[in-house]
Amino acid sequence: MDHLLLRTVIAVSLIAVAALLIGLVFGAVPGWASFSGGVLLLLLHHVRHVDLLVDWLQRPTPGKVPDGRGIWDYVFALLHRFERIQTRQHQQIAKTLARFRQAGRAHPDGVVILGADNRIEWCNDTAEAHFDLNVETDAGQPVTNLVRQPEFIAYVESGNYAHSVELRAPRGAGVILSVQIIPYGDAQKLLLSRDVTRLEKLETMRRDFVANVSHELRTPLTVLSGFLETIKELKLDPKRSRDYLNLMTEQSTRMQRIVDDLLTLSTLESALGPSLDERVRVAPLLDRLRAEAEALSGGKHRIVLDAEPGFDLLGLENEIASAFGNLMSNAIRYTPAGGEVRLTWRATANEAEFAVQDTGIGIAAEHIPRLTERFYRVDRGRSRETGGTGLGLAIVKHILTRHQATLDIKSEPGKGSRFAARFPVRRIVPAVAMPENTARESKG
Ligand code: ADP
Repeated sequence: MDHLLLRTVIAVSLIAVAALLIGLVFGAVPGWASFSGGVLLLLLHHVRHVDLLVDWLQRPTPGKVPDGRGIWDYVFALLHRFERIQTRQHQQIAKTLARFRQAGRAHPDGVVILGADNRIEWCNDTAEAHFDLNVETDAGQPVTNLVRQPEFIAYVESGNYAHSVELRAPRGAGVILSVQIIPYGDAQKLLLSRDVTRLEKLETMRRDFVANVSHELRTPLTVLSGFLETIKELKLDPKRSRDYLNLMTEQSTRMQRIVDDLLTLSTLESALGPSLDERVRVAPLLDRLRAEAEALSGGKHRIVLDAEPGFDLLGLENEIASAFGNLMSNAIRYTPAGGEVRLTWRATANEAEFAVQDTGIGIAAEHIPRLTERFYRVDRGRSRETGGTGLGLAIVKHILTRHQATLDIKSEPGKGSRFAARFPVRRIVPAVAMPENTARESKG
């Protein structure tokens, strides 16, 4: 300002000196007239620049600061510099804000920023999907007007956000959200949402599993303790006692089988997946499987083994034997006497399939997707009569998954079933000729 004042004083002084000279040469009137004219011109010059300045300030377009003359050149240069710094700062803030928004958008959980009265200020794509919102049209609206679940409204209005709350997503059937509010700043809130459907499902499975195990073990235990009471209370003749003891043995064997299968499952769950460096010789394994099938059938079924030679599997022998054995024993158990059970092994360099086909009772289509669930049985009575635990196919599925193999089930009630285990190419290797002594041993 000092600068401006000084330059104005100099300008007025120059006008005054010029007017004084004119006054000395041409007389007082022309002198005063030129002084007034000079001051008037100076005033007009300033007013015109003030006008330009006011125009720009009303619409401060970046890069359009007017040009000035004289002292105004300096003023506008300062303004121009200030405006450039401002623009740069604006750009930086906008960039940072965009980056923060991008980070918020990329967040896998839903994020909603709520302002005063729980009005939506911003939300990311996940939150849009979780709460069926649209940031363009819903910004500014209270979130409780848009997400109408009573438990959500109660949570928002409670003011107690120490814990999260679970609710069903408004859209997307069966999606369960865990929602938490985090207050921050001045009446601001962060509303976070996470899809916990999978966790919820696991929790339900865990609860069902515990209930099932308890139920499965309770039944034989109840029978056992009933028999024990009877034997204790009544004087039984030796034949009756023997019958009772036989029935008790049956029940305890059943419990033993359930516990064994449960232990197998838990071992499969906790152990590392099988590596690719153990070879399973498929041909001798299938021979053993056929012999086991014959023994299990007791001559009641026709057992056919149709195995293509030439390829082995990479995996864990005891697991593969257990999976194939389970499929085989199911086929025998669910095929009435006189039926056929066919074991097949087809392998090429690209794929391998072990299948068990039977002409048994078959399975209605609605049960097929659930057969590998623990304790899932189509006919509880039949499963129990034949010594089933309801865990066989769960074990098979686990073993196959650990070998990156799949289980394909085709069945028709009254006609029979086909259970096929398919192995990926990386688990198939050409069979090697067995050393002489091993070959002789396995024949013997
Ligand atoms: P289970 O011990 O009861 O046999 P699994 O897990 O092995 O248990 O099989 C689950 C259910 O699948 C069985 O209870 C049975 O209803 C059905 N199932 C399995 N294999 C066959 C088959 N080959 N034919 C008909 N039903 C079968």
